[in-house]
Amino acid sequence: MRIDLHTHSSVSDGTETPTELLATARAAGLDVLALTDHDTTAGWAEVERARPAGLTVVPGMELSCRWFPSGAPPISVHLLAYLFDPDHPGLVAERTRLRTERLARGERIVDALAAAGYPVTWAQIVERSQGGVVGRPHVARALVDAGVVASVDQAFATLLHHRSPYYLAKADTDVLEGIALVRAAGGVPVFAHGLATKRGRVVGDEAIAAMVDAGLMGLEVDHPDHDADERAHLRRLAGERGLLVTGSSDYHGTNKTTPIAACTTAPDQLEALLAAGTGATPFRD
Ligand code: AMP
Ligand code: FE
Ligand code: FE
Ligand code: ZN
Repeated sequence: MRIDLHTHSSVSDGTETPTELLATARAAGLDVLALTDHDTTAGWAEVERARPAGLTVVPGMELSCRWFPSGAPPISVHLLAYLFDPDHPGLVAERTRLRTERLARGERIVDALAAAGYPVTWAQIVERSQGGVVGRPHVARALVDAGVVASVDQAFATLLHHRSPYYLAKADTDVLEGIALVRAAGGVPVFAHGLATKRGRVVGDEAIAAMVDAGLMGLEVDHPDHDADERAHLRRLAGERGLLVTGSSDYHGTNKTTPIAACTTAPDQLEALLAAGTGATPFRD
């Protein structure tokens, strides 16, 4: 069994439609795929409809969150959520708030870039996103198309880096509230790429302990952005706290260089995850 529990489609910042993503999963020999677009469930209906026989699809999402350390600025953290009720009112409202926040923040970033002379416009980015959830990858694409940078990766290393003067944070969900919301909606919350230092500051063990106390059920241990030491540390924490251990690619199509199934999840961990989720059912034969 080959299991990849973290992928993005074009309803957020991946480059493949949900249907294309299913074909990519199949071609890579996956048996189980989770769709985890940022702050939206907009791709769920399409993967349910277009799912090929033999492929199990776990409906999910990656919720944009923040951890608030005492005496330091908030740290961006991503919370994977699986099998939650997509109609839970509190979670619906929070997703809507996050998408609105992303639009306002994206427009401010692009306006600042345009004011500095970079040939990008917010209207062009909104049109290209086709109603999907907009993030920095969309701005990066526009910068590539305009010939400002050679690649999405180069855009993130320069103009869109979290230490760039053009970078703006967004008012993401307090992660402890996010965990509580996902649990209230019957979902399974898993801390995504928790020690990926190349993305920015990461949280300490005390934050993970607080997240566990709030209802966190798993840690994404095997992720392309984690080195061997980071994986070992998270695996030990998961063992100590009785948490699920997942492994995933965080596939984004051609917006990232990582192939699908670059990291995978063990079958017994999938079974435990499926048993814990009560807000939705997986799409399968
Ligand atoms: P945002 O949520 O708008 O701040 O954008 C962050 C998103 O950009 C994350 O979901 C990542 O998937 C993506 N990202 C971060 N670094 C890179 C990179 N070097 N290349 C492509 N995508 C990236
Ligand atoms: Fe992303
Ligand atoms: Fe993420
Ligand atoms: Zn992701």
